[in-house]
Amino acid sequence: MAPSVDHRAGLQPLDLRGRPLGVLRLSLTARCNLACPYCLPDDQEPGGLLTLEQRRTVVQAAVALGAHSLRLTGGEPLLHPELEALLEAVQPLREQGLRDIALTSNGTLLSASRARALRQAGLDRITLSLDGADGPSVARMAGLADARAGERTLAAVLAAIEHARNAGFDPATGALKLNAVIQRGRNDDQLLPLAELCREQRLELRLIEYMDVGNRNGWSPSDVVSAAEMLERIHRPWPLEPLGRPLHGTANRWRYRDGSGQLAVVASVSEPFCGDCNRLRITADGLAYACLFAAPGSGVDLRPWLQPDRSFEELQIALADLWQRRSDRYSEERGGPLAATGVHAEMAYLGG
Ligand code: SAM
Ligand code: SF4
Repeated sequence: MAPSVDHRAGLQPLDLRGRPLGVLRLSLTARCNLACPYCLPDDQEPGGLLTLEQRRTVVQAAVALGAHSLRLTGGEPLLHPELEALLEAVQPLREQGLRDIALTSNGTLLSASRARALRQAGLDRITLSLDGADGPSVARMAGLADARAGERTLAAVLAAIEHARNAGFDPATGALKLNAVIQRGRNDDQLLPLAELCREQRLELRLIEYMDVGNRNGWSPSDVVSAAEMLERIHRPWPLEPLGRPLHGTANRWRYRDGSGQLAVVASVSEPFCGDCNRLRITADGLAYACLFAAPGSGVDLRPWLQPDRSFEELQIALADLWQRRSDRYSEERGGPLAATGVHAEMAYLGG
């Protein structure tokens, strides 16, 4: 029998493992202008994309249920023409509990004017993704034709870092960070160059273990460089000391002993953090998924509750229901007898 669900007004629901809802990850598009082989996004949008008003309403419902952080993602969210309009539309929700609005982007489309427009529209933080510090590595990791294309993309992302900084996204306050996925044999030789780049720029580098999301990347455990190994390799030239993983956070944080800033590792494979996961994901076409490793199509379609004849309370109840029935902890079960089928929704569709 399904567990009973408490719909009392004002309730901030806990899931079946006692986890509260805290972060809403909203994917604005399933498409991308890159084709990183570890991600391989769709080249077309799914049908039935949410409208701007529907997205604002979903954010409002999540905030009412306890979400304090909104992360806009994709696909590549800078491809979305209504990004700035959505940022403006959600600003009033700060009075209802929304504290932090962040964006994850590959940065290739982040011009100086776009960075300023995002800041003016109310974006608090940007995380840019870059998986190498030279043309050949960037080309390999971003699915580009050759090293020259990799050099152009690298130059665009380095420029994007400057544009973001100049627009007021200050790395010293955590408002600008760099993500890098590390794959053994493909870009693990970039660990030190990436760390050096970020040390020089005083940017927090967030090293992400290569994950078995989606079904297209041919993931194998042997491709994963564990967080422990990444840290060990960086610690040798630049000693680190631990700062810990904040409750509900995804990253273990470290500080360089020589004062050159911080480093973070997202160890979803080797040290899963399902136990305090507080993230809800909404796809560009309005399907709600709690777990990043959920099966394709298993999300709850929110569109029926986003029609003009349905009330905001009905949407809230649907979201609360979904959250209160959640018990997934895929990363902790990975490889064990309880692990799900191994068929996962694609990363760029789910929004990471
Ligand atoms: N296009 C944007 C970008 O690349 O930042 C936003 C979407 S992307 C899906 C979000 C993050 O997920 C990126 O930092 C990307 O590197 C990471 N990612 C994608 N596939 C991954 C995988 N299989 N394992 C680990 N991280 C992955
Ligand atoms: Fe695009 Fe980001 Fe996926 Fe790379 S990781 S293909 S940039 S969505």
